[in-house]
Amino acid sequence: MTANQKIAKNIYLLKDYGCNIAVMVGQEGLIIIDTGHKRSALKTDSAISIISNLPVKYFLNTHLHFDHVGGNMKLAEDGAVIIAHENTRKHMLSGWKVPELQGIKYSPVLPYSVEYLPKVCLKDTLNIYFNDDVVKAIHYPNAHSDCDVIFYFQNANVIHAGDLFESNGFPILDVWYGGTIDGYVKALDDILKICNDNTVIIPGHGDPSNRQGLKDYRNMLVESRTRISKLIEEGKSVDEVIAADPTKDLYKGGESWIPVKLFIASVYEDLSRK
Ligand SMILES: [Zn+2]
Repeated sequence: MTANQKIAKNIYLLKDYGCNIAVMVGQEGLIIIDTGHKRSALKTDSAISIISNLPVKYFLNTHLHFDHVGGNMKLAEDGAVIIAHENTRKHMLSGWKVPELQGIKYSPVLPYSVEYLPKVCLKDTLNIYFNDDVVKAIHYPNAHSDCDVIFYFQNANVIHAGDLFESNGFPILDVWYGGTIDGYVKALDDILKICNDNTVIIPGHGDPSNRQGLKDYRNMLVESRTRISKLIEEGKSVDEVIAADPTKDLYKGGESWIPVKLFIASVYEDLSRK
């Protein structure tokens, strides 16, 4: 857990092992976006109370993954309402299991108990009127997963994009839970339309960025898709595509937080299913 970072007049950022947790403070209380890992829920709880002792009214989950919903039970124990996409709730009820990918195995997640589950679910959009702002929840289908929601604080001009944006490298597509590269790029195109030059964009992981950062990320993914797709058409196996290192000149920020081979393998899996 790293120290609180103030990113707008009434919005703060906490980092839990890389997962970005946003905190909005106002006279009506707090809204928290994403709850981090289960193992650090106590620390997250105390980090939130350092920002404000006002009650938390809503916890918003950007998508199903364990590093974004793991603190739900502990953090919402005082009765705050958890809100997410309906597929997030559906997957949390059945658990999460993905195959080994390029030698990397994510531990399966068992079905969550009822205390973790979102109580209010959206399908497409939802407006939350709170603290003199409107928080717009917008779902983008089949992008990083089938349940991605961004939360846009309209007056503060801040977006939490969840894993539809990683400012520290490449994403991984959860193709086993509805993720697709074309849906991901379409989501980025749509998010860019609601940003202006002053919008602060909080990624799922990495430092806050802006419209230009999101645009560069979008272009990096489009070029990666083109190159990977060409290698697939040439009949290359996934190992051959990874060995060809098609994305090597595309990310300028050093080593990607998600290993690049996982990004390539997930795009390969998605495109070769078509
Ligand atoms: Zn994720």
